[in-house]
Formats: sequence, C-alpha cells, structure tokens
Amino acid sequence: MHGQKLIFEQSVSGRRGYLFPRCDVPVQETDLPDSLLRVETTGLPELSEVEVIRHYQNLGRRNFCVDVGFYPLGSCTMKYNPKVNEQVASLEGFLDLHPLQDEQTLQGMLQIIHRLTGDLCEITGMTWGTLQSMAGAHGEYTGMKLFRAYFASRGESSRTRLIVPSSSHGTNPASAHLSGFEVVEVPADKRGLVTLDVLKPYLDDRLAGIMLTNPNTLGLYEVEVAEIAREIHRVGGLLYYDGANMNAIMGASRPGDMGFDVIHLNLHKTFSTPHGGGGPGSGPVLVSKRMVPFLPVPDVVLQKGSYAFDWNRPESIGKISGFYGNIGICIRALTYIMVMGSDGLAEASRMAVLNANYLMERLKGTFHLPYNRRCMHECVFSAERIKADTGVTALDVAKALIDRNIHPPTIYFPLIVQEALMIEPTETESRETLDRFIEAMEDIHRLAYEDPSQLKSAPLRTEVGRVDDVAAARNPRVCFCG
Ligand SMILES: *Cc1c(COP(=O)(O)O)cnc(C)c1O
Repeated sequence: MHGQKLIFEQSVSGRRGYLFPRCDVPVQETDLPDSLLRVETTGLPELSEVEVIRHYQNLGRRNFCVDVGFYPLGSCTMKYNPKVNEQVASLEGFLDLHPLQDEQTLQGMLQIIHRLTGDLCEITGMTWGTLQSMAGAHGEYTGMKLFRAYFASRGESSRTRLIVPSSSHGTNPASAHLSGFEVVEVPADKRGLVTLDVLKPYLDDRLAGIMLTNPNTLGLYEVEVAEIAREIHRVGGLLYYDGANMNAIMGASRPGDMGFDVIHLNLHKTFSTPHGGGGPGSGPVLVSKRMVPFLPVPDVVLQKGSYAFDWNRPESIGKISGFYGNIGICIRALTYIMVMGSDGLAEASRMAVLNANYLMERLKGTFHLPYNRRCMHECVFSAERIKADTGVTALDVAKALIDRNIHPPTIYFPLIVQEALMIEPTETESRETLDRFIEAMEDIHRLAYEDPSQLKSAPLRTEVGRVDDVAAARNPRVCFCG
C-alpha cells in the first residue's frame, strides 16, 4: 500500500551513521551480575546519516500541519505559533534546568511561573492558580477535585449533582463523572444557548454546580451567563468555566467577571503553543478567592525579593503532576503574552471573531447553518441538506478538502448538530486564505450535486486514500512484526 519502508526494514548490517573514536580507556570489569549484562545486540536499525535524514524528511512530508496549510479544526485552535516562542523555550538556561535544583538556582524559572500565573489571572479576572495541569481535560479534573475539596471543607459532601449542558465539550461530562459527580445534562434552546429555565429543576442543596463553556461549542456566546452565575451561587453551587477557547474573548470579557469560581485555559490553543498529535500541552487552572486555599502544592511565592516554593497549604488537594507542569509550554505562553501585550491579545480575539463571522456569512447561503446568529471564534454548519439531496456527508466534504490542501474542520461535533462541520479559522489567517477556503467549500458543494461519486472516493491526491475508519480504530496495527 505505501512506498516507504520502516526504518528497521532499511537496516543493512554494519552500516554506520557515525563512527566513534576507538576507546582509549582500559575496559574495566564491572560489578554487575552476568544476568543483567546484554549478550546480544540491541536490534537497532543500522543506517548511514543521509538514509536517516531522508527517512524522517519523507515521513514529515506526509504530515499536515499549520506550517503547510490552512487548518480550521473547530474547537482545537490550530493557529500559527510564532517561531520566536520556540527560540525562547530552547534557551540553554531553561533547557538545562533540573526540577530538583535548589530554589536559589531556579529564580528565573520561578519568576516565569509566578509571572505567567499572574498574567493569566489578569486576562481571566481570577485570583490565583496553578500551572501544573498538563492539558485541558487534566485542568477540568483538577477543577473538579477543587470543587470536592471546597464542599468537603464546608461539610457539604452531599452536593453530588453537576449540570453539564448538551452544548459542552465532551471532556466536561467525562471529567465530572470521573471525579465522582452525577452528571445532569441540560439541553440548549432553539438559539443554541443555555437558559436559566432549564437549570431551575436542579437548583437545590444537592447541586454542586455547573460546567459551562462560553462561548459554547457552537461558537455562541451564552447571553444569560450572569443570571446563571447568580442563581447557581444563590443555592450554594459553584461554576466551572471551560476556557479552552479563551481566544474568543481576550480583552473583551473575563470569566472572573462573569462569576466563575474555577476555570482552565489551554495554553496549547489560545496561547500559541504547537499541539496536535498528542501534546505536550498545558491546562492551567485559575480560581476565585474562596478557592485559593485548595489549589495544588507547591505554590510559588515572592518573599523578600526572592521566589520560593510554598508547600504550606493545609487544605490543598495536593500535587497533580510530577513536578511543576509542562514548563516549556509555559515559557512559550509567557513569551507570546509579552510579545503581544494587552492590546495585541485583544486584537487577536477580535480578528479570530471577525474571521469566523466572515466565513459564516459567506458560506451560509451554500451550507445549512442551524444556529443562525453572530458567532464568536468558530461557526458550525450542517451537511444534512446536501446529504438528503445527494448522499454526500460531512465526512465526504472533509475528505474532499484534503485534496485541496486544507485540513478538514472538526466533523460530527458538537453532537447536537447533525452532520456537523465545525469551522475555526483562527486569527492568524489572511483574507486570501479564507477566500480560498470558501471557494473550495463552494466547489465541493457544486460537485456534490453534479458528480457525488468523485467526492465519495476522496481523498485522491494523498499517499493513502480513504481508509476504513472503523477498522483503523477497532483493529489498529501499530506494531512492526518483522
Ligand atoms: C480542546 C478542548 C478541551 C480539552 O483540552 P485537551 O487539552 O485536549 O485535554 C476541553 N474543552 C474545550 C472547549 C476544548 O476545545
């Protein structure tokens, strides 16, 4: 099926990429027991340097990334990450640090942790936080632990119900459930929004709170958020904000001002860190004043002009990661924030929203737009109509985009939209790129009616054509078996 051999298959016995000088130190007997000494070679592939370079270059060229083309993957914020972030994170002074070094020799790194936590609080309107969590979902899990610790401290462990709207990200109900809460799903209304009305039946002393995403996964701003916050607090509940998509509102509105108690951000989305392919990520958790005592240890504090770890937090939920988080990602995020400044961050959000609305307005005559109102950073179309008319599905549209050197949008999510196409252009794309995307979508739409079979077999220009997704997921063959 594919032209490229595995690196093991290219191995030729005795071939070398690098020759070490002959060892000029006498070989000494070791004290290691014979049973631990290797008697056979490792079986590592043997290749020359240029063979290795070509192998990985060829593999890399099969990959799609933001540096190659437009990547409007809704909710995932695949925006361009300025290369200066990489340069700063790769400075030797950062790379060579060890997490167990003495605090006095870690002052610069501690300052970064302290400053970034403070900046993120300023951006979100929260009081303090932790950078330890490694991803958005890890942030949510940490947030739920904070909820539990708060209720335990008040003798209110009977609060077990957590409201999660149907328009929320899939990780929300999963995190709530894993943390032992009973998930209560509430529907969005005809506008795609959560209203106070649907929450009313649950506003009692069994309620732990709500997990809300604003803008929600339809890309829509929850207009009743202030009333919702007031009512949840009135019955003693807490509000969790999924801030993975903070890029929609930076400099315009703040979850802290909306009344949220615990939030997470995705530094690997909004704050310009490369992601995809499984990480690394960073999902800082930020909290309102009353939640501060429960934050993970250690905190980083500034005392008499020097930074130090503070482990003295008796009510803390403890540690939630090995050391202090994915520090390299934190350095990138702080670099981005400092380069952008507050005006730049606000401008980034305005551009993200403008780009999404531009796409929405230009495409809504062609593709069905189930929730037709001003969007934030993303918009969600449905391929239901073309499917009914021509048999072409959201999946076919996505595959056809690949042939046009465009990464598909998120499809079949959010679940409340049939045949969903969730498009997030991000702020880093030009008008010309957006126009090319619009033309590609219009072209695909025309083909659906004229020659649907062509779309059914897309992609045609990739090394591997249409794969059987179900078999690939259920029966993956990921091992090299000789
Ligand atoms: C991406 C995303 C998450 C999950 O973040 P991970 O870092 O992938 O765990 C949660 N909520 C929303 C709204 C997201 O877009």
